[in-house]
Amino acid sequence: MSEEIKIGLETHLQLLTDSKLFCGCPTTGEDNPNSRVCPTCLGMPGARPRLNKRAVEMGIKVALALGCETPEEMNFSRKTYFYPDMPKNFQITQFSVPVGKNGEVTMELDGKEKTVRIKRVHIEEDPGKTKHVGGAVTSSDYVLVDYNRSGIPLCEIVTEPDLKSPEEARAFLRKLADIFEYLEVYDSSDEGTIRSDANVSTGGERAEVKNITGFKDTEKALRYEIRRQENLKKRGREVERETRAYDDSSGTTKSLRTKEEEADYGYIFEPDLTKIEIRSDWKERLGEEIPELPHEKKKRYVKEHGLSKEMAAAICSDFDLAKCFEALAKEKDTKLVGNILSGPVKKVLNYNEIRFKESELNREKLRKVVEMVESDEITERNAEMIIRDIAVEDKDPEKVKEEKGFGKVTGDKLEGTVEEVVKANKEAVKDYKQGKDEALNHLVGQIMKKSGGNADPQDARKLLMERIEE
Ligand SMILES: [Zn+2]
Repeated sequence: MSEEIKIGLETHLQLLTDSKLFCGCPTTGEDNPNSRVCPTCLGMPGARPRLNKRAVEMGIKVALALGCETPEEMNFSRKTYFYPDMPKNFQITQFSVPVGKNGEVTMELDGKEKTVRIKRVHIEEDPGKTKHVGGAVTSSDYVLVDYNRSGIPLCEIVTEPDLKSPEEARAFLRKLADIFEYLEVYDSSDEGTIRSDANVSTGGERAEVKNITGFKDTEKALRYEIRRQENLKKRGREVERETRAYDDSSGTTKSLRTKEEEADYGYIFEPDLTKIEIRSDWKERLGEEIPELPHEKKKRYVKEHGLSKEMAAAICSDFDLAKCFEALAKEKDTKLVGNILSGPVKKVLNYNEIRFKESELNREKLRKVVEMVESDEITERNAEMIIRDIAVEDKDPEKVKEEKGFGKVTGDKLEGTVEEVVKANKEAVKDYKQGKDEALNHLVGQIMKKSGGNADPQDARKLLMERIEE
């Protein structure tokens, strides 16, 4: 990929408030179209917006957590556009004085630290949702509109074009979602609520790719767009400055229109909302409510609990998993808890593409698993098999252990198995004695097999070496 790749993201995350940004309509609940609406979020003439203080507080916290400057006074603006998803023909957003400016996010990718500058953070309302029936935008028979989403509070994060690859962009979004989750202003279990527009240039003009949802699709859309631009250049053609739409079914981007400038939106101050004063005592109080953030937590786990950087990173990337770790680390062997949570637990969550709070796991169940390993009732490998089961179904770990016939093979029984394996594999023993280390792995494998996976491979290896070297 080209050295000159520059990617900037404009990402919307939904703020976790009970009511909408400018009215009292609930943000969740009844899903029937147009069931959570009122004259304000329907944009009726004369209906006035009332600002949701919780949403503003969440916005300020985000700005502070991203190291942004926050203004003493801020206001909202009208962004004019004509489309049925916003019947009042403008969106209330922030333009000249946003809630945050000039911050940064530091993330880690392949062991290297990378800082992405944040240009601005602002709060705005979501438009409604349109559904084209019987065809695409231009060929559909008619359009349905649902205003339940209209007025849902969003926080938009705009980066400088500091991202250099699709992988970096994905890692950045993951980091952003983690920070929002720690601030408890965002529900990370629904990746579908993260939407980004990306500005991509590979040396020439930049194209904007609109409406990409989630982490994976961002990486895919960017990969496609970079390849498209590089192919154009190879054929001696220029990349045009334009807006493109990402189509997730084909994984491609399509031209929508030549890019509009900010001036095309004709921003004016929103006259129905007064300016909002961010007093220093208010800001201070909100600052105090900001918890230890993922990168701080990670450092502390390495320093205080002696976890490796990788283990700490795996645990801290899920807020509820980190909470579980901290509780169990107080009662049990920290290293063992760290091993189990960053290893099998994280693996199972990733495999099922769920967060800890969406799984059937909880502190009590994992405490039992840790206790069984601690008391040599099961091996760490057994623990992993049990966690696979109890993560997706509400089951008792002890019952799963019994069902699967797990029970750690130790002492005389293990020695007996070692003896059997040594006798039955004379060739491999000879090979090992002649310096072939892989022969030992083969023998350990035989012991594991004979014990039905219930031996600890480390114990088996140790005993085996003692027995062979006798
Ligand atoms: Zn409403």
